[in-house]
Amino acid sequence: MSQDLKCPKCQGTMVQGFIPDFAHGTSMPFVSSWVEGQPKKSFFSGLKNIPIAGGIPIAAFRCTGCGYLEFYSDHKYMAQ
Ligand SMILES: [Zn+2]
Repeated sequence: MSQDLKCPKCQGTMVQGFIPDFAHGTSMPFVSSWVEGQPKKSFFSGLKNIPIAGGIPIAAFRCTGCGYLEFYSDHKYMAQ
């Protein structure tokens, strides 16, 4: 995503970030990812049910003016 995104609310500058996911029971967070479909209970009862690479990484762009968050999900946002 380009760096010249403008906030849809106040036209402020949007800065790329991500939402750390600590849900895998480790001190090393993963980037939260988008997973297609309705969540199933088994997703939450067994951590191994979702492969780490099974979702599409989410980038969260934050407005420096008003704090508005806008999310994009794309493989290019995978941890590097
Ligand atoms: Zn804003």
